[in-house]
Amino acid sequence: MKKIFIMNLGTTSFKFKLYHVQGENMDVRASGEIESVGAAESRWQYTNCDGKNATGACPVPNHGAGFTLFLEILQKDGLLTSLQDLNAVGYKAVHGGSLSGTRIVDDELIAEMERVTPLAPAHNPIYLSAMKDIRENYPDLVQIARFETSFHATIPDYRTTYGVPYEWREKFGIRKYGFHGSSHEYIAGAMKKLQPEARRVITCHLGGSSSICAILDGKSIATTLGATVQSGLFHNNRVGDFEPFCLPMLMEKLDCDLEEVLNILSKKSGLLGLSGVSNDLRLVLEAADAGNEHAQLAVDTLIDNILGYIGMYTAYLGGLDALVFTGGIGLNSDVVRSRVCEKLAYMGLSLDAAANSGRTDGCISTPDSKVSVWRLKTDEESIVAQNVCQMLQ
Ligand code: ADP
Repeated sequence: MKKIFIMNLGTTSFKFKLYHVQGENMDVRASGEIESVGAAESRWQYTNCDGKNATGACPVPNHGAGFTLFLEILQKDGLLTSLQDLNAVGYKAVHGGSLSGTRIVDDELIAEMERVTPLAPAHNPIYLSAMKDIRENYPDLVQIARFETSFHATIPDYRTTYGVPYEWREKFGIRKYGFHGSSHEYIAGAMKKLQPEARRVITCHLGGSSSICAILDGKSIATTLGATVQSGLFHNNRVGDFEPFCLPMLMEKLDCDLEEVLNILSKKSGLLGLSGVSNDLRLVLEAADAGNEHAQLAVDTLIDNILGYIGMYTAYLGGLDALVFTGGIGLNSDVVRSRVCEKLAYMGLSLDAAANSGRTDGCISTPDSKVSVWRLKTDEESIVAQNVCQMLQ
């Protein structure tokens, strides 16, 4: 039996799950979360498999310290006897540049993640800091990264290439990588069990950060995120696809440097920037219902973006057997699902209105629909844990 500690890190957040893995069985024995990492006081919460909960507050200066905090809690709770009891830590790491898939954290991996940090400035530094910290404090502990780009390694070259000088791809790695790989991979695996005959699947991971993926026979063949996590659909705060030639004019009109424009595009744009209301779709939908025109435009644009990619990906797939919604928005917003699906009636797709407005995971299309529609909760950490375990074996 293997014990694996999986980390999912955000700028100020730390989430973990402790897995016990035996053969095909993967049990989550404990999970926890820290908010406000780096603040004077960080709040944490912990739950174990018996339903025992604990919460607390203390300074957690960085993500490495977050690992130490939960290591101690797990030992006190009897789920780990010592550090040696832990077989590995695994990361849902974001951008590994030329290194995709599942990799041991070593000097080469750290150097490549550092090289591509300009492409993932909000994510790579956090993971690098945790990896280095844990390596220093626990030098014998095996660390393994599963990159979010991994599932998209099967996308053909002609679909991962920008129309830029070829040398940029060769020399600098300027190409589309795709992200949210663990989520799309989990849904691909779930669909193999739920509807094995569905060869052509589109997964819509819609949340704070959103992407759509076309999956043929279980493999990714297209996705909306590109060289960075900024592209494709617009996101809660992020711009999505944008025209680089607007940048000089924006710098002039806003009287600011490139960094400030990029800051607006990555933190104050998307749903928030367009609606002027919030980065939370629930509040934007409320405002739209109350007559706020900018909020209505933001919702209409989001639906239209999603629809456009579904049309493009249906063409890539040569038809569509199943459409899946996941992520905070995909799972919870019946409005987004119904507005997208009503435009797909031309495919013979028909949503079951009662199932769509319900709260149960599963199929939400009518039995006679030519394309099945699903609302499924994703489980990214389980994909990381599975891959980490395979690597250990
Ligand atoms: P992240 O990408 O940060 O992991 P999530 O996948 O958890 O985010 O999605 C969070 C988003 O889900 C929130 O921004 C919120 O707008 C959206 N959301 C959650 N519930 C609903 C709902 N009932 N209707 C519409 N949007 C929702």
